[in-house]
Parts: sequence; structure tokens; C-alpha cells
Amino acid sequence: MVFSADDLEQRRAALLADMAATAEAAGRASSGVALMAVSKTQDEARIDAALRSGQRLFGENKVQEALDHWGRRRDLVPDLRLHLIGRLQRNKVADAIALFDCIETVDRPELVDALAARMRTAPRFPACFVQVNIGEEAQKGGVMPDALPGLLAHARAASLPISGLMAIPPHGGPAAPYFALAAKLARRHGLREISMGMSGDYREAIRLGATIVRVGTALFGERPASSVNGEG
Ligand SMILES: *Cc1c(COP(=O)(O)O)cnc(C)c1O
Repeated sequence: MVFSADDLEQRRAALLADMAATAEAAGRASSGVALMAVSKTQDEARIDAALRSGQRLFGENKVQEALDHWGRRRDLVPDLRLHLIGRLQRNKVADAIALFDCIETVDRPELVDALAARMRTAPRFPACFVQVNIGEEAQKGGVMPDALPGLLAHARAASLPISGLMAIPPHGGPAAPYFALAAKLARRHGLREISMGMSGDYREAIRLGATIVRVGTALFGERPASSVNGEG
């Protein structure tokens, strides 16, 4: 199918309207939920069209691909906000701190230590969220729910501020119980931001307290079949 920037702009407007209506129906302020455009695997034309439509918050799941997409654009779009939503390897920590405004996938003590050490000397301080493995799935990233308090304590001791939680519910089943659990954990630990909900389930996520929904296909259209979810 031929890509049309007008179609993308219309999909974005419809998404924002639907998000606002969903938030308000749930008794939440529509301003309390942000639309993140997940631009992994998207081509230059689609990314530029999203920017032209007014989109400023973007998510990427791989550091190298994010550099390809955004290394040059960062300077051209001063109000860009870029979040890392895929697994971060320790050897990519310096690149990630230089590029991202938020690292949503802090999930282990060694990564906390590497981020904290680098941020002591880096000129930038991205926000950090902890990714919770909310469905306790072996193949997924994220800290197990019962290890969350320990990881948060470790981050406090290392002076790495954590301001939110990120969660990806198990594929296939109903997501609502997992969203509810993520929201409960965020409240319990005083974490303001909750990044949850994707193209197929962002409404439930908003009803249950998401402050950021991460939307790829519903905004850009289908990704090429080879792309992988999650890991980066
Ligand atoms: C790809 C991806 C998304 C977006 O998924 P869609 O179903 O295309 O909206 C959201 N979150 C993460 C972590 C992803 O890797």
C-alpha cells in the first residue's frame, strides 16, 4: 500500500480523540495520558510525517536503530522526547544516555549501577522507569514483581531517580488484570508515570491508569513482518 502522510495525520488525530474520550469516561483528565509513537522499523517518510503531524514523543526498542532514526533529527526538533522501550545492554549505556530522554527498561541492579556511574559524569540525565515483568514470563525483560522493591531500593542507594513503571502484559490473554497490577505497584511505590498499553489494548490501559501509551501499528500501519517485539 502506498504511504500517505495525510492518512497518518488522520490516524493520529483519531487516536488522540479516542484517548481523550477514554480518559474522560474513566474520570481522568485527558492531559494525563500521552501518546508515544513507536517508530521502530519505520522508514524516513513515516517518521517525518509523524513529526509534521505534531507528534513529539517517540519510542524505540533498539539503541542502534534509534541512533539511525534520531541521531540527526534530535538537533532539528528541539522539543523531541525519545524513550527507550527495549532491553538495554550495559555496553550501550553511554549511547543511550546521550540519545534518550527516558530509559523505560531499567530491570536489573547491574544496569542501575552502569546508568548511575555514567550519569555522574554525563551532561544529560534521562528519566528512568523500571520495566516490570508483569506476567512473569521467562522470555521477557523486566524485573519480576516480587523483586521490584529490592531494585527500587538499589536505585535509591545508587542515587538513580526512578519516576515510573513500564509493563508489557502477556500476549493473547486479557491485559486488564496485568494493567491493574502494574498500576497498583506504581501507586504503592509512589511512581508517577505508568507506560502501558499498545495499539490493541491502549483503551484498557488508559482506564487502568496509564500515563503513556506506546502505539506503533495503529499510528504508522503494519510493520515489516521481520520486526521483533520488545528486545533491543
Ligand atoms: C513495538 C512495541 C510497541 C508498539 O506495538 P504496537 O502493537 O505496534 O502498537 C509498544 N511497546 C513496545 C515495548 C514495543 O516493542
